[in-house]
Amino acid sequence: MHPLQLLDPASGTCTYLLHDPQTREALIIDPVDAQIERDLAVLQARGLRLCWAVETHNHADHITSAALLAEHTGARTAAPAACGIGTAQVQLADGDVLHFGGEQLRALHTPGHTAGSMSYLWRGHVFTGDTLLIGSCGRTDFQSGDARTLWRSITQVLFALPPDTLVWPGHDYEGRSHSSIAAEQAHNPRLAGRSEEQFVALMQGLHLPAPERMYETLPANRHSGLRHDAAAVQAQERSAQGYAGDVSPALAWQWVQSGQAVLVDVRTDAERAWVGEVPGAVAVAWKQWPGMAPNPQFDAQIQAAVPPGRKALLLCRSGVRSIAAAQRATALGLEAWNVLEGFEGDPDEQAHRGRVGGWRFHGLPWRQG
Ligand code: FE
Repeated sequence: MHPLQLLDPASGTCTYLLHDPQTREALIIDPVDAQIERDLAVLQARGLRLCWAVETHNHADHITSAALLAEHTGARTAAPAACGIGTAQVQLADGDVLHFGGEQLRALHTPGHTAGSMSYLWRGHVFTGDTLLIGSCGRTDFQSGDARTLWRSITQVLFALPPDTLVWPGHDYEGRSHSSIAAEQAHNPRLAGRSEEQFVALMQGLHLPAPERMYETLPANRHSGLRHDAAAVQAQERSAQGYAGDVSPALAWQWVQSGQAVLVDVRTDAERAWVGEVPGAVAVAWKQWPGMAPNPQFDAQIQAAVPPGRKALLLCRSGVRSIAAAQRATALGLEAWNVLEGFEGDPDEQAHRGRVGGWRFHGLPWRQG
């Protein structure tokens, strides 16, 4: 069984989707923010339940969709411990194993492109991120990269795998899908027939330009792809595509108190019960735990909850699901607004929610469910 390889053409990034054919539980490696709609559609079309979103390293050339996928699907996030991605729920060390259904993915620490970089082994396949590319390897000239370390990771860790192990790279710019350990050992022009010293000299002489979006991508990826946007926190209201607009928690509460809007809590029953809820809000789940399956009653329930002439204010955990729900409510003819930051806000550096934004953080009324 091969992994499903999905390409982001703009960044040349390869995303991989693996699953257990019996339980339909799935794991995704290096998902890209611009491709989240495609990836959600692929999961749905194949009847897969995403359990894990995993990074090979902190990317400089694209922004991950890991946090958004987690919000949409209920998946957990995992990243190499030494990559500084504090929002990832599981911090991986060398040899750690992630389970999905009866399948397992094993982490191999392969530093060099970055100090934290990992490769992942699944059945006879290795996902090498930017450590080993087809006929090439990742650069080592920024973000804690080191050519000598990369040489050791490739020759001592990856080349120690069985020669018929298939190599699935983090990028390919020439349309090739995969290679093998034996082929890279024999033919990779950066490695074959070279000594460690020759490899280090080659890497130090590359003089590549900096990735175009590096100053935007690196900080976002340290938060699993979430952009802590100071302007959004202060915004009172702003228009948006596909729904009426975004509104700050404080203004949303004013609209509720003045009777012009109904607050609709689109989180799962479990989240309201365990985390807390807003007095007077109407519960209309967008998706339900377990499995984050779409709520088949959503259309009927939200139409019943919001009388004609009133705004619908949609609140979720961090303001992601509520956008999808607001777009649907708009299609149903409602004036639907997304409440920015949600009930709990985005996770902070320690993956704790409620400390960098959200309904509770701003001191608005709530109670334990
Ligand atoms: Fe990279």
